[in-house]
Formats: sequence, structure tokens, C-alpha cells
Amino acid sequence: MKTIIQKIDATNMASSDFKEAAELLRAGKLVAFPTETVYGLGGNAYDSTASARIYAAKGRPSDNPLIVHISCFDELPPLVSVIPDEAKALADRFWPGPLTMIMNKSDIIPKETTGGLDTVAIRMPSHPIANRLIKEAGIPIAAPSANASGRPSTTKAEHVIEDLDGKIDMIIDGGSSDIGLESTIVDLTVKPALILRPGYITIEMLREVIPDIEYDKAVLKRIKDDTIVAKAPGMKYRHYAPKGELTIFEGDAKAVSSHIYNEAKEKLESGYTVGILTSDELAKSYESLATEKANAVNPKLYIKDIGSRKNEAEIAAGLFDALRYFDEIGAEYIYAEAFSEGGIGQAIMNRLMKAAGYHIVKV
Ligand code: AMP
Ligand code: MG
Repeated sequence: MKTIIQKIDATNMASSDFKEAAELLRAGKLVAFPTETVYGLGGNAYDSTASARIYAAKGRPSDNPLIVHISCFDELPPLVSVIPDEAKALADRFWPGPLTMIMNKSDIIPKETTGGLDTVAIRMPSHPIANRLIKEAGIPIAAPSANASGRPSTTKAEHVIEDLDGKIDMIIDGGSSDIGLESTIVDLTVKPALILRPGYITIEMLREVIPDIEYDKAVLKRIKDDTIVAKAPGMKYRHYAPKGELTIFEGDAKAVSSHIYNEAKEKLESGYTVGILTSDELAKSYESLATEKANAVNPKLYIKDIGSRKNEAEIAAGLFDALRYFDEIGAEYIYAEAFSEGGIGQAIMNRLMKAAGYHIVKV
């Protein structure tokens, strides 16, 4: 199929910009669109055929439920059997924004949309294009991340084109997603409420509204342990994985950079293509590697500095783009510095550890 690419400027948009996208969605077709977290692959949440198309386009296992997106609080009541008080309080504080809440679903949501579950995940995105698209379509939009299943999520229209061109009806190009990591997911169907996926909204922020909220055990896992099964079906899959072998080095900054330096040098000398995921603080440590003789003739080292360690939002925003970059240049070995795990760092390390299949070396 031919995928229509439609550019929309979030600062200057008109109803007519959304006409075709809204018609496609109402007709059960698929439209990828930007949100503040990552790009979403949208379909009519009421339409089981549209949901089936989403799974097919992504190659996503059909037991992995979709998040349903709404544009205002009034659109919530029909979708759920009851609205818990906690949902009202969280919505007051964090919606529209990067927070997804799990509630018991109503009969109007087909099981195809929820991967067979009786619960449904709901989010109200703050991105002006996402919000307007849902309003113009006039239906709730089921939308997982707009990437091929298993690949890093998409934060730019170009990423979506890479993964889904020819497989979906339209891609709305609205520039880069600001946050760059998927939403925080909170399960309100259990007591105490649980965080199933960490994100930009941190546990500290959530505890101001729900003091006893906890992480699902699987979120805190730091080793590959198949006995700890994630409550969010999607969190159990190998995810975000680049094609090369990714290893994370954790410890004192000096030790980390010298270990990465040595590992990279060895692999370069054996003729491999190597990627290094680094920060402003440590990027310089690898500069001399790039000027090594063998490498100067046939550059095989690619260093990606995604920002200052002091600016977690910047690191978060650049992470998936960097993982995709290493695929593009054909990195066979990728070495990444670990990041701190406070605040958004929890979400950054959660995605990075999954990408590495929990391959972390303490130095
Ligand atoms: P994505 O939209 O690609 O970020 O994936 C949606 C995530 O939300 C996956 O990890 C799903 O497993 C999770 N999710 C969606 N609905 C539910 C639900 N009803 N219960 C638990 N997790 C859910
Ligand atoms: Mg996803």
C-alpha cells in the first residue's frame, strides 16, 4: 500500500490538515502520529479489525494490549466500568501528559484492543497534533508505539517511515517527540497501585498523589531472570533491541570510560564496527580511539554523545534515536555508559537494560 506522508505544523494547524487522517481512522485505517512521548500507530479503538491491522503492521504479538488515547476527560467514562478516585486525582495532576492508567474496561472496548484482557490502558496525550487528531476523528484511538515490534520506539517521522512505510495508510510528520520515552504506566486495578513501566512521570511525582504506589517487581529487575514476569504484557518481550550486541558499563566514570575504551579498541582491531553511547562528560575519553591508524583508513568507530548526564531529559530524548543510529551504521558491538537511576533515570535505565538484554558489566 502507498503510505501518505502528511506534514503538520503544530504551531499553525487547521481542521483541514486533519480531514483525511480523521476519515481514514473512522474507516478503520491506520495513521501514525506524533505524541509528546514517542510516535503512536493509531487505529479506531472500537474497531477490532483496526486493532488487528495494528498488530499485523507492527508484527506485534496479539497478547500485547494497545493503549487507548483520548483528548479530554469526558471521553473516559464510556471506556471503563468505573473510574477509581485515584484516576480522577492523577488525571487532575498529570493529564494531558505522559501518564497511562489501567482500569477495568467497559464492554464497548473489544478484546482485540486489550490483548484479551478485561482491563484497558488509557492516556490523554498533551501533544497538540495528537490531541487535535483524536478530537477531529471523534473516536478514541488505540495506539501502541509506531515501530516494528522489537525495534526501538520512534521519536521522528523518519523513524516511522523506516519501520512502517508501505504497511500503514498515513504518517503525520509533526517533528520530534520532546520526551522520547514511552509513557509511565500505572495499574489502578490493584491495591496498592503499581507502576508497570517507568517514564517521565516519576515515582516521586506519583507518590504526591498516591503515597503508597509501588513499582511492579519486574521494573526493578537488573538481571535476566525469567521467573519475574512483568504485569504489562509488553514489558516481557525483548524490546528496543539494536541489531548489534549492546553492553552497558556501570561504575565510577573513569573506570567506565577506560573499560569501554579498551573493549572498543580490541573489537576495532579485530575489524568490527563499533558504536559507543556516551555523554558530554565522557565523550572526550574516546577521541583518541577515532584517530587510531586502522580506524582512520576505514572508519569503523561511531561515537554518539546524547547529552549531559546532568540533563536527564536530554538523555531520554536522544536514547532511541541513538539506538537506531547504531543499526543504521551497522554497529556489531555497542558499548554504553550506565546512567543514574533517580527520577527519569529509572526510565532511561529500564529501556537501556532491556535493549542490552540485561547485559551489564560492573566495573
Ligand atoms: P506501547 O504502546 O507500544 O508503548 O505498548 C503499550 C504498553 O502498555 C505495553 O507494554 C502493554 O503491555 C501495556 N499495556 C497496555 N494495556 C495494558 C493492560 N490492560 N494491562 C497491562 N498492561 C497494558
Ligand atoms: Mg512499544
